[in-house]
Amino acid sequence: MKTHTIPRIGGMLIGYYLICPRKAWLSLRGLWMEQESDTVAIGRQLDEQSYGREVKHIELEALAPCGTGLVGKIDWANLKTGVLHETKKGRSCEEAHRWQLRFYLWLLKLNGVCSKDGSPFNGMLDYPTLRRREHVSLSTEEEVQLAAMIRALRQLAMSSEPPERLSRRSFCKTCAFEELCYG
Ligand code: SF4
Repeated sequence: MKTHTIPRIGGMLIGYYLICPRKAWLSLRGLWMEQESDTVAIGRQLDEQSYGREVKHIELEALAPCGTGLVGKIDWANLKTGVLHETKKGRSCEEAHRWQLRFYLWLLKLNGVCSKDGSPFNGMLDYPTLRRREHVSLSTEEEVQLAAMIRALRQLAMSSEPPERLSRRSFCKTCAFEELCYG
């Protein structure tokens, strides 16, 4: 049987998996790579001097409990208040957005990084065009769910057959793989 290398898994792939596992499978095959490759260990970025200011484009990496490499790139963070921000255009995939941000909070936790007062980081989804914001936190149960998603994505990466196409054809109109799936 042909074996496949397990790529590092990023936040966008988590979102794809929730929206459409087939999209995640195609992305895992390198048909559309995430822009989250060259990462720097967070410890090198978040030194003592970093606290008390905002930092942009934080790159994270960690290992999931199953040993899968994880990567992520955060839009910006206020290290003083312990809030990670992720900016999105629309809310059509808001559940996927929430999990993407929870994934980044998890990466911080796996790196042992907490806010200045020792509490875990929280997340904020920013929808500037809609003038909306949403708080996102990470519970212990959600950490377990994230670990399960990573294992499922690992399985997906090993699979030589793609999952079924989405039945919600309307959603596919906004997907870069539409022609590949329906052309
Ligand atoms: S076109 Fe539809 S079925 Fe195909 S990957 Fe995109 S969302 Fe999934």
